[in-house]
Amino acid sequence: MDDSTENTTFADLALRPELVEALSSLGYEEPTPIQRESIPPLIAGQDLLGQAATGTGKTAAFALPMLQHLEIDNRSKNPTGLILVPTRELAMQVSEAVHKYGRALGARVLPIYGGQPIGRQLQALSRGVDVVVATPGRAVDHIKRGTIPLKNIAMVVLDEADEMLDMGFAEDLDAILGALPTERQTILFSATMPKRIESLARRHLSNPTTIRIEAPVVAKGDVPKVRQLAFMVPRSHKPAALGRILDVEAPAAAIVFCRTRVEVDQLTETLNGRGYRAEALHGGMNQEGRDRVMARVRSGNADLLIATDVAARGLDIDLLTHVVNYDVPSAPESYVHRIGRVGRAGREGVAITLAEPREHRLLENIQRVTGDKIAIEKVPTISDLRNRRMELTLGTLRETLLDDDLDRYRTIVESLTDEFDLFEVALAAVKLTHEATAGAEDEVEIPEVEVRRAKDRKNDRGDRGDRGDRDKKGKKNKDRSIGVDSTRLYFPIGRSAQVRPGDLVGAITGETGLAGKQIGSIEIADKFSLVEVPEQSADDIIRAMKKTTIKGRKVVPRRERFQRFER
Ligand code: AMP
Repeated sequence: MDDSTENTTFADLALRPELVEALSSLGYEEPTPIQRESIPPLIAGQDLLGQAATGTGKTAAFALPMLQHLEIDNRSKNPTGLILVPTRELAMQVSEAVHKYGRALGARVLPIYGGQPIGRQLQALSRGVDVVVATPGRAVDHIKRGTIPLKNIAMVVLDEADEMLDMGFAEDLDAILGALPTERQTILFSATMPKRIESLARRHLSNPTTIRIEAPVVAKGDVPKVRQLAFMVPRSHKPAALGRILDVEAPAAAIVFCRTRVEVDQLTETLNGRGYRAEALHGGMNQEGRDRVMARVRSGNADLLIATDVAARGLDIDLLTHVVNYDVPSAPESYVHRIGRVGRAGREGVAITLAEPREHRLLENIQRVTGDKIAIEKVPTISDLRNRRMELTLGTLRETLLDDDLDRYRTIVESLTDEFDLFEVALAAVKLTHEATAGAEDEVEIPEVEVRRAKDRKNDRGDRGDRGDRDKKGKKNKDRSIGVDSTRLYFPIGRSAQVRPGDLVGAITGETGLAGKQIGSIEIADKFSLVEVPEQSADDIIRAMKKTTIKGRKVVPRRERFQRFER
């Protein structure tokens, strides 16, 4: 990313004040790269051929210029903007987006797709519409009936053009574009740029500005060595999913990146409700407020910092173990930039990304650009969480048995054993420990999501009224786990003994001859640490550690009992 453009604001893009205001109230802090590059040429009236996947902010990239010239008074009943999309879901999503960006302008937006009674669409069209968002088949029906007046269309957008071609809409697109006024602006966005898209663009775009993702833009050495995981989660389940992932990962200190201020505030509240000490940081806060938050984070009085990119820019936080992308970042460079906050100077770290199913392409782009694999894992289930909580309780009790002076409780146990069986007494004590250390149970199951690709979606044509989620044949993502031949060792020593990753790596490499780079992620909790090692070396390490000490203590590891997720 070019630093000189990094601080571009929406106002710099010469958007009208009503739009700048709408974006600010949605909590958008700055344009995404695709918006920065597309909006100026589009406002200047040029055609545009853009390579961008869902999640890059491409909807606003074309919707804002479309709304830029919308007249407030004396508006005709005829639409001036037409957006063509492959599916009915997308038609609804895009029209909602255009509606929210254009609310202050009173923009009239109508989604048109198959499966919905045509009568309702006709009524709305006759009342007057500014922007029509349509699937191609249904648009052709209307054009044939003469029910969409096209003569005022000044801008047409082909959104997800590759998907539209994959779904067999090529002829419909040619028919629609052929029926539009020749004096118009044409925009084509596609996640991929196969020859067929280039040929479509040659036929219908005139002298377009081209925006493409150049790959790879990141040198291999620039991508920090961190464990990279992603979870596919439907939007509505994201807060709960993040809570669970954090419960299982147990980060010592993490930064969670959100796209908007609004999201930052909501998530901070949710996570505080879950017992985390989360602090919000965004561009809407004054300097004093930000300093206060950073002081709490640096002194260890907060364990999660929830921030936008803008607010976190330039922050250097030493103790971070985890970076969480609550949304997939809108550009691969931003992903690399974010995850560079952990894994620096040889430290180990974890990068976690929550992606909505429709953002899978964005994840693929990131992997292509960084050359690194992001493992898709399953969101912990309720039973995973229970296991994890049991594991925590077990760890806590084990440490207490090993470390603490328990003699002063002897009289309690003795007086109870007069009345109860010793085992029963132990069970009651474990129950109390469990309730005190493990926190509340989470009841709602989060559905498992399958990643579906374009070719699996051919039957989803919006014109037939098919629902995008009807076809359950989508392929399972094959590779769900990190390092299949690695395992994690549980070391009964942690932060409370001032252990640092280097101590663990030093002890292991010193005693076994294993190279530092063969050791994977390291997580340090209060009383224990988890170290990822090659499966075939695990037993040797356990044996070797019996002969040495860490921080002056004998620390014999064992295999982690709770395997993170089913492999
Ligand atoms: P899209 O790629 O158009 O589907 O957008 C993906 C998501 O990013 C949507 O939820 C938008 O609301 C959000 N979004 C788009 N532009 C921005 C921005 N500049 N800042 C924050 N969020 C954005």
